[in-house]
Amino acid sequence: ATTPTADIGLIGLAVMGENLVLNMASHRFTVAVFNRTTAKVDAFLDGRAKGQPIVGAHTVQELVAQLKRPRKIMIMVKAGAPVDAVIDELVPLLEPGDVLIDGGNSHFPDSTRRTRALKEKGILYVGTGVSGGEEGALKGPSIMPGGNPDAWPLVKPIFQAIAAKVPDGTPCCDWVGPEGAGHFVKMVHNGIEYGDMQLICEAYFVMRKLLGMEPAAQHSVFERWNKGPLDSYLIEITRDILGYKDPETGKPMVDLILDTAGQKGTGKWTVISACDLGVPLTLISEAVFARTLSSQKDERVAASKVLKSHPSPFNGNRQSLVDDIEQALYASKIISYAQGFSLMNAMAKESNWEINNGGVALMWRGGCIIRSAFLGRIKEAFDRDPKLSNLLLDPFFTQEIARAEESWRRVCAAAITHGIALPAMTSALSYFDGYRSAELPANLLQAQRDYFGAHTYERTDKPRGQFFHTNWTGRG
Ligand code: NAP
Repeated sequence: ATTPTADIGLIGLAVMGENLVLNMASHRFTVAVFNRTTAKVDAFLDGRAKGQPIVGAHTVQELVAQLKRPRKIMIMVKAGAPVDAVIDELVPLLEPGDVLIDGGNSHFPDSTRRTRALKEKGILYVGTGVSGGEEGALKGPSIMPGGNPDAWPLVKPIFQAIAAKVPDGTPCCDWVGPEGAGHFVKMVHNGIEYGDMQLICEAYFVMRKLLGMEPAAQHSVFERWNKGPLDSYLIEITRDILGYKDPETGKPMVDLILDTAGQKGTGKWTVISACDLGVPLTLISEAVFARTLSSQKDERVAASKVLKSHPSPFNGNRQSLVDDIEQALYASKIISYAQGFSLMNAMAKESNWEINNGGVALMWRGGCIIRSAFLGRIKEAFDRDPKLSNLLLDPFFTQEIARAEESWRRVCAAAITHGIALPAMTSALSYFDGYRSAELPANLLQAQRDYFGAHTYERTDKPRGQFFHTNWTGRG
C-alpha cells in the first residue's frame, strides 16, 4: 500500500483541472491526480507535470489511498451527471470528515442538493465557482467556494494560496455561504460578464455606426478608457481586439467576424433566477436577449430589406459624444452591478444564506473575467454599509451616477434618434428612472387587474393592507 503523501486529489485532467493542479504544485502542495481516460494521467505526468510534486493514479481507489487525512478531493469534470457519477464512485471510499469539492460550472441547485446529501454521510461538500479560464486556473483564478462551512478551514490554505491576489496581496477567494451559494455567486458573475460585454459592444456600435469610427480609431479610445474608471480586463482585451489586423487580408479582424453570438446558459440561468425571485435584473436580461437576437442573422438580414432604416448624419460634436459614451458605459455598468447585487441579496434572504457582498466584490476584483478597478469601489461601498440594499444608494455611486447622467441621456437619445439599438444602455436608463420614481403607473395596472379579474387594490388615502374592489361596469 502507498503511504499517503498528497495534500489534495484532483479528478478531471482537462484544461481547467490540469492548470489548477500545476498552480497547486507551484505553491508546494502535493497533488494526486486521476482522470477517467487514464492515458491523460500518464501524458500529464510525462509532460507538464514532470519534476512537480504531482503523483498519478489509475483508479479512484489508488487516488484515495494517496491522500492525507482528512482527504480533500477536487472534481473538475463536465458539469451535470458526470459530477454525480464521480461522487457516487468516491463516496464508498471516503470516511466522515473528508472533503469533496466540485470546481466545475455546476448549477447551484445541484450543489445545494449534493451538500445536503453528503452531509448525511458526514462528508463535507464544497461547490465552488472558479473563474479566469485556462490562464487564471494556472496563475491565479477567482475562487468562490460555498457548501458545508466545516470544510472551509480545511480547504482555505490551499484555495487562498492558489487564488489571484489584489494589489495589496488579499486573495480573491473567501467563503461565500452555505449550500449552493458559491455556485450561485459564480452564476451571477457570469451574468454580469454578459452585461459588461454587451455594454462594451454597444459603446463600440455607437462609435462605429453613428460616428463611423474605424476599429483602429476605437483602439485608442479604449486605450484611454482603460486608464479611467472603466479600467478592467474586458476593456483591455477589447482595446487589443480593435487593434488586431487579420494577417490574411490586412483588414481589422473584428470587421471579418460574423455578428452572431452563442451562449452556454449561465446568463440564462441568472435571468431565470431573477424572475423566480422577482428581482428586476433588466440589464443582464437584455444582454442575454441581445445574443439571441444576434443569432437570428438570416431573419435580420431579410428584415433589414423590408423595415428600412434611413440613417441621418450625426451633426453634433464628435469628440464630446465619445466622452459621453464613456460616461454612458460607466453609468450603465453601475446599474448592472446594482441589479446583480440586489439579486444576490434576494437569494440570500430567500435561502437563509448569509452572502458576504463585500467579500464577493473582492473575489471578483482579480483573477476573473469581470475583474476591474470598479469592483474595488463596490467593496468600499459594502465596507461602509454591509447591509446596503442597492448600490445606487451608496454615496459614492449616487454621486457617480449623477455626474454621468446627462452624458448617458445624450448617448441614449442620439442612438434612439438615429435608429441604433442599444438595449442594455437604454434599459439601464429606464431602470434608473423607474427606481428613483416614487410614483409609477402601476395604479392604472392595478385598476386593470381589478377590472377584469377582481384582483383588488390598495388605496393611497387608506392604510396599507386594506384591499378594495370596484364594480367598474356597474353590472352585477
Ligand atoms: P470539460 O471539457 O468540461 O470536461 C472534461 C473532463 O470531464 C475530462 O477530464 C473528462 O474525462 C471528464 N468527464 C466527463 N464526463 C465524465 C464522467 N462521466 N466521469 C468522469 N469524468 C468525466 O473540462 P474543462 O473545460 O476543464 O472544465 C471543467 C469544468 O470547469 C466544467 O464544469 C467547466 O464548465 C468549468 N469551467 C471551465 C472554464 C474554462 O475556461 N474551460 C472556466 C471555468 C469553469 P475524460 O478525459 O475521460 O473524457
